[in-house]
Amino acid sequence: MRAVQLIEIRKPLTDADITIPELGSSDVLIRVAAAGICHSDAHYRAGISKIDRLPLTLGHEVAGRVEEVGRDVAHVSAGDRVCVHYLVNCGSCEFCVRGLEQFCRSGQMIGKHRDGGYAEFIKVPSANAFPLPDDIPFEVGAIMMCSSATALHALNKARFKPEESIAIFGFGGLGFSALQLARAFDCGDVYVVEINPAKLASAAKMGATAIDAKAADSVEQIRGATAGKGVDVALELIGSAKTMRQAVLSLGPLGRAALVGLTAELMSIHPYSELINKEAEIIGISDHLATELPVLIEFARSGKLRFPPETLRVVDLDASQINAALDAVQDSIDHVRTVIRVTCDE
Ligand SMILES: [Zn+2]
Ligand SMILES: [Zn+2]
Repeated sequence: MRAVQLIEIRKPLTDADITIPELGSSDVLIRVAAAGICHSDAHYRAGISKIDRLPLTLGHEVAGRVEEVGRDVAHVSAGDRVCVHYLVNCGSCEFCVRGLEQFCRSGQMIGKHRDGGYAEFIKVPSANAFPLPDDIPFEVGAIMMCSSATALHALNKARFKPEESIAIFGFGGLGFSALQLARAFDCGDVYVVEINPAKLASAAKMGATAIDAKAADSVEQIRGATAGKGVDVALELIGSAKTMRQAVLSLGPLGRAALVGLTAELMSIHPYSELINKEAEIIGISDHLATELPVLIEFARSGKLRFPPETLRVVDLDASQINAALDAVQDSIDHVRTVIRVTCDE
């Protein structure tokens, strides 16, 4: 089959002709229809995130049609439309048995520790194949399994409830999903903090209060807009100590700041006045859980989570097109996500 692989770190991906993987009794072989190109893929190619073995087929945002199933597989069968949960876990370690599979002792990420979806076929354990309703295009089924799933996990970890207000720091792919998902939770007021004028305009168009962090201190602006109270939940999606601190400072009493962006910088907090006094919480967010995916898929099916055509760019399963998309993903300033369309069958 055709695949696009990382053969050497810090080198462009390469077109390859590889063997279709053999199925174990509980595996599913999927004919890939769409595979999202993600920021993390650019990091693997650049050697910023370590990968275990080469050559490797990248791609952890995958949707397609079941081609074949192992003999013990019952919940999906050949011809079914599916999307793929990218964390493969053992199911039996102390974390897995508690439903905390993102900490699995032997967890593997598809497209990082095992071959991913930049290929005509992908083999995954059947537990990782989730039925994809007909109403959701394969392209959307693929890309929502990463940033949208993380945004949903952040809202869940922050125990976000109907009517609560929320500040979203950063309006890239995660923020675009987070705003729609907050709506799907029947949120109260939404504030989107950004410096990019196009993103601020698009947040306002989607009904949020746009907070231009360049115009004035964003915490002051949020305090002003909430009559001094602050918000119930703040999501930090940028990965900077400065905006993480602002997310915490924007909280009202009993507020929860969910930190999703990655940074190695130190963050400073005055414990008494900024945290203890208002019983605020700072929560770390990593990946998502398989149990959250059916809710996410239902939001997409019902149109609460949408990726309009102008937010998707399509390329072929072709190394030069994919390398160009990976180059562009680094400095993307819009919500446009690039998806590899592998087979056109809907
Ligand atoms: Zn991703
Ligand atoms: Zn485990």
